[in-house]
Amino acid sequence: MGKNSTFGVSYRVGSMRKRVMTTQNATLTKENQHPTETMNIVAIIYDFDGTLAPGNMQEYDFIPAVGKRSEEFWQESSQMAESQDGDTILAYLYHMIKEANNRDVSLRREAFRESGSKVKLFNGVQEWFSRINSYAEKKGLVIEHYINSSGIKEMIEGTSIAHEFKKIYACSFFYNVDGVAFWPSVVVNYTTKTQFLFKINKGIESVSDNIEINKYIPEEKRRIPFSRMIYVGDGTTDIPCMRLVKQMGGYSIAVYNKDSQRKVDDIHKLVDDGRVDFVAPADYSPSSGIDTIVKQIIDKIAINLSLENLKHK
Ligand SMILES: [Mg+2]
Repeated sequence: MGKNSTFGVSYRVGSMRKRVMTTQNATLTKENQHPTETMNIVAIIYDFDGTLAPGNMQEYDFIPAVGKRSEEFWQESSQMAESQDGDTILAYLYHMIKEANNRDVSLRREAFRESGSKVKLFNGVQEWFSRINSYAEKKGLVIEHYINSSGIKEMIEGTSIAHEFKKIYACSFFYNVDGVAFWPSVVVNYTTKTQFLFKINKGIESVSDNIEINKYIPEEKRRIPFSRMIYVGDGTTDIPCMRLVKQMGGYSIAVYNKDSQRKVDDIHKLVDDGRVDFVAPADYSPSSGIDTIVKQIIDKIAINLSLENLKHK
């Protein structure tokens, strides 16, 4: 799909919406009488760094506290990964523990949360969730927001939007009896990110579970099918997720920071290569590009569900 066809869907949706509105409202009433139905849940899954907030979350507070410049910190952890051909995410988690210990910086959960509270969000992010939730509600849909990030879960828990998410999938630590982080407990890289889409798909929140997730569940019985997923990300670690969601019938949106040097052409290449459906600036304010795209995807999902219900009558 080329960028010129980005809004093609919306026009079709707009004209169809009028025709099915009566039926859609009837469906709503029926579904409200059966609250166990999960037919109307839509998952919006967000990367964090560069998607909901500029930069990396460690750069606001943690890296300065250990006495490093951001470039220096990331370069050192990359070098460690490269020198022994290891995982770059594991290397940075180790580097965080090592540097914090060297500088007597707290590795308690509360310290990570305090650090997360300093993260600045992109324009409109704070109000985005309630606005999209109420838009979807009018269409008979329930939105569940999820985070899928290679950043630190405990830091995201300290941000002002943490309560908006049904589940935060991100890197995390094991803590000792004194409550001090000593070892990575969850490592999320570009490919392990995709496992969480299947957990969302099957309705399994637990990261440690490896039994339920592998049980056979027919596609139509899964809690949130990929066709009701919207993935929002900004970088290379999101490409496998974006592509998976798109290939499985869902929607992927690549966002970019308007204030950074990254060329818009580069990110549009993701569309041209068939890896994402849409591209928009990381501006979540009313009537922004992503606001329009997500609302129109919600319209389309509502209409698809309505048509499905008609088939079964
Ligand atoms: Mg990112």
